[in-house]
Amino acid sequence: MASGLEMELQYLPKVGPKRAALFKTELGVETVGDLLGIYPFRYIDRSKIHAIGEIRPDQAFVQIRATVLSESVLPGKSGKEGRLSVIVGDGTGEMELVFFKRIKWLGPKLTQGSTFIFFGKPTVFNGRVNMVHPEIDPPDSASSGVMTGVYPSTEKLKNAGVTAKVMNNLMNSALAEALPHLKETLPEYVIHEKGLVPLSFALRQVHFPTDQNALAKALYRLKFEELFLLELSLLKQKFIRSRSDNGIPMPRVGEFFNKCYNALPYSLTGAQKRVIKEIREDLKSGSQMNRLLQGDVGSGKTMVAVLSALIAVGNAYQCCLMAPTEVLANQHYANISRYLAPTGVQAALLTGSTPASQRKKIDSGLRDGSIGIIIGTHALIEDTVVFRNLGLAIIDEQHRFGVDQRARLWSKRTDGRLPHVLVMTATPIPRTLAMTLYGDLDVSVIDEMPPGRKPVQTICIGENKRLAMYNFLRDEIAKGRQAFIVYPLIFESEKMDYQNLQNGYEQIVSRFPLPDYKVAIVHGQQTTEVKNFNMDAFAAGRADILVSTTVIEVGVDVPNASVMVIESSERFGLSQLHQLRGRVGRGSEKSYCILMRGEKISKESRKRLELMCATEDGFALAEEDMKMRGPGDLEGTQQSGLPIDLKAASLARDSRIVAESRDYATRVLEADPSLSSQRNELLATALQGSKYIQKDYSKIS
Ligand code: ADP
Ligand code: MG
Repeated sequence: MASGLEMELQYLPKVGPKRAALFKTELGVETVGDLLGIYPFRYIDRSKIHAIGEIRPDQAFVQIRATVLSESVLPGKSGKEGRLSVIVGDGTGEMELVFFKRIKWLGPKLTQGSTFIFFGKPTVFNGRVNMVHPEIDPPDSASSGVMTGVYPSTEKLKNAGVTAKVMNNLMNSALAEALPHLKETLPEYVIHEKGLVPLSFALRQVHFPTDQNALAKALYRLKFEELFLLELSLLKQKFIRSRSDNGIPMPRVGEFFNKCYNALPYSLTGAQKRVIKEIREDLKSGSQMNRLLQGDVGSGKTMVAVLSALIAVGNAYQCCLMAPTEVLANQHYANISRYLAPTGVQAALLTGSTPASQRKKIDSGLRDGSIGIIIGTHALIEDTVVFRNLGLAIIDEQHRFGVDQRARLWSKRTDGRLPHVLVMTATPIPRTLAMTLYGDLDVSVIDEMPPGRKPVQTICIGENKRLAMYNFLRDEIAKGRQAFIVYPLIFESEKMDYQNLQNGYEQIVSRFPLPDYKVAIVHGQQTTEVKNFNMDAFAAGRADILVSTTVIEVGVDVPNASVMVIESSERFGLSQLHQLRGRVGRGSEKSYCILMRGEKISKESRKRLELMCATEDGFALAEEDMKMRGPGDLEGTQQSGLPIDLKAASLARDSRIVAESRDYATRVLEADPSLSSQRNELLATALQGSKYIQKDYSKIS
């Protein structure tokens, strides 16, 4: 039988096969080590005594040392037990304690003048703070009190008798089993250089902290270890790749780049210039480029894509640009063709609805190399698409493309060399986080907007202002403008959401009737033809209002649209709202974003919508989003290929430790890139664990 961390959970005292099975299905816990890897999500601090005068009702739990001033029993209705009301005081204030049960026993115990420690959750009743059924302990028991961990649980576990107290006891037995066998997992020198506490101390303290200070040290150790190993595994790939010569050298800038550049109707922003320079360096380096280009909506990523593509073409390679939707691919094709006009480079568009005859021409153009730039959707990565000489793949809006799809692009060459990859995203992710989420990618940021972009005025209103909103739309439409109206579409409530969208559409049509108004609708259940038809009608100005789901979230450019109305806006994430808002404010007119909110929204939601009205800084909004919802909610996180599930650390909240562990991992790898030295043995072993093994996509063919 395995012992220590490897011991099966069922052999721990008070567990047995039945509970063990439940722990497996409910929490994925199979061994003692798994159990100890579940950390408390908060602690009840019983080392502190609160002053009654300073207690606020929003505190989770408080502990007071107070003397009974008076007590009274209030009778219940028709023979039922009543309640016991006890007024206690501690010199800073008074508080009522209320008991509904065990009154006969408690009454005589809580005599006037006696002092106790009371521990419970403050609530507000009749405008005053009180506590219902606090725990009662002798007045001198607090000093021996410790912080108690509170663990995630499930309904089934609770029903099986795994209460908070049982969980604490199990953790105690698990520690007793594990600690004697425990081996340190980090090399001695790392522990020393980073000033970390030993693993055994960290594990004990994270489950049973003696005080805040020890807990902080324990958490730091556990978080650092997780992030350090994560960064090591990501950076190791990158170190290996950057030393290899499997890329395609593109030494020239080329004539096409210069022709396009000289014909630009505006000058590039400083940020665009900087990013193009970074890309240019990558392209001529000889190793494969894997770069993430971040830039807020409207920051001018398309121009960067075009100029990068022209470097590839100028070096006699082909370039493909993939967009997440057909609508977007069409739009890119139209825009890019304009930029290409002065260069003579031939571009083509390939999507699911390209007719067969056209498709044939494109196939031969790609094979003989006469098509320099191909723009399209997922259709581009199908095996039937064969290039003569693909040198650069550009992917717009990363979050719709997984790592596997990126890898399929790499197989478009048969000589073993890898096309360069540029991934563009408008999802603003803090830099350290981006470096980790997209571990193997280098990151470039366009952090400057082209001049002349007008701020979008954002307001948040309730149902009572709906008619005023309609009037406002009429005014804008009368001025020749157009409006978006967006409805949420959430996977879990899809059926109802479609119902709401349909109802909303009908309401709009009746409020904005033909022939004065034309309303189009676009959503995911339409066929591609219908969708494109409606979208094109709006883009070309034949419809005044476009009612839709978030399908228009990415990229669509309709400069004449000046109003974005978002229904049930509290149901969207801030980053998503920001993306939607970016659809307006692209033309020369003043633009508006109107957030419609439901009647009963939480304080939290209200705060988020206020922030939305107050700022247009995508990074600030993304950061706030992450704090509230965790980075797991960021689209693309799942596809990012992050090799581990973080237990102690959070990429959003622990950004300082993320940066620190990344720096340290870089130093370790610079000294020993393959981690083969004696002193890094533990690290090499840890990275061999299955969770850190990444697929080597460069080998896929
Ligand atoms: P993104 O894809 O990053 O959201 P786009 O590439 O669509 O942004 O650019 C948004 C708009 O800004 C486009 O109309 C584009 O022509 C314009 N634009 C891009 N770069 C500049 C610049 N340097 N100066 C002025 N306008 C620019
Ligand atoms: Mg774009």
